[in-house]
Amino acid sequence: MKGNPFFYADEDDIRKGLVADVYFLRGKKIMESLGLNPLVYGEVTASGIPENGSFGIFCGLEEVLRLLEGLPVTVKAMPEGSLFYPGEPVLSIEGAYNDFGIFETAFLGFLCFSSGIATKSARMKLNCLDKPVYSFGARRTHPSIAPAVERAAYIGGCDGVATIAAAEILGLKPVGTMAHAYIIAIGDPKEAYINYDRFIDEDIPRVALIDTFEDEKFGALTAAEALGERLYAVRLDTPGSRRGNFRKIIEEVRWELNLRGYSNVKIFISGGIDENTVKELYEIVDAFGIGTAISNARVIDFSFDIVEKEGKPIAKRGKKSGRKQVYECKDCLKHRVLPEESEIPTCPECLSKMEPLLLTYIDGGLRIVKEEKPQFSRDRTIKYLRKIKEVSLD
Ligand SMILES: [Zn+2]
Repeated sequence: MKGNPFFYADEDDIRKGLVADVYFLRGKKIMESLGLNPLVYGEVTASGIPENGSFGIFCGLEEVLRLLEGLPVTVKAMPEGSLFYPGEPVLSIEGAYNDFGIFETAFLGFLCFSSGIATKSARMKLNCLDKPVYSFGARRTHPSIAPAVERAAYIGGCDGVATIAAAEILGLKPVGTMAHAYIIAIGDPKEAYINYDRFIDEDIPRVALIDTFEDEKFGALTAAEALGERLYAVRLDTPGSRRGNFRKIIEEVRWELNLRGYSNVKIFISGGIDENTVKELYEIVDAFGIGTAISNARVIDFSFDIVEKEGKPIAKRGKKSGRKQVYECKDCLKHRVLPEESEIPTCPECLSKMEPLLLTYIDGGLRIVKEEKPQFSRDRTIKYLRKIKEVSLD
């Protein structure tokens, strides 16, 4: 933290344990004084999913692996973008307790935070599988973690992100339209659209923000007059106080555009959108910009529990002891949690052979699975979401 003008912990602080809850450091001090360092096996599980959700999307693993790599531990986990249910292990760590115990605050933080955002993002995308949903919520979180927020939003199913730093991490081009502030600064919406078209790179779609001063219907026509064939979409960011019946406003914009030969112009909406808005307006909207609902998503309450000590099953009250494997049926998405040594089971629902989800990522400190491209993790989520629709799991 020293020398840093903003209030966040950097890599060094995290690796030194400066953001560890102090009781982990106290426990370690006592254990070391007694010369104790038992070999333990612990698992990360969630007892529930926020907002009565039935499933979560696992995210945050890459940072956990970067934190634990090089320590004398073995780490197993589900890949990022995996579907998980409450009560099943998503990650396990095996090692001598003093070698990794103080990192519990940090590794849970990475997972709780990123999986919370990915899960919420997935809930949006589930209602909008064939149209784009963009993450526009960086402004509603601390800027130092905006890239982590948007990475998780993307892995959870968002099609694009707004900030340059996040887009760079993801290997994408950032997505954005124009700000109300830009239109006010120029002074006249028509001038604003014409100059946007004049100065912004050709490969950026011309999306006009239409409700700074005018009614949405007239704003859309102003944009169409200004850009003609070059207008790709209009964006409605209608304030809540003016919304009345938002569906009717959007339908009216569509009607007026179509009537004048602009049926190819798409309609984007943003501003206070959540998964219910996406569901309600999916048919008449071409893309959604989502802010607070994703960037301030409830975290997943993961906890870490020791389930084996010196080779013997042991766990606190309320937790099942012994190391476990999670098996998945790819046909109906049913999961089973069984002792690790069990035979691969068949699905109790559809009798398909199930597949294990927990894979070894770090073996005795050595990373044996290289970093997965975020696109692959996102593809995994999307595949799950399509399957969820198919088997009507939601
Ligand atoms: Zn099945």
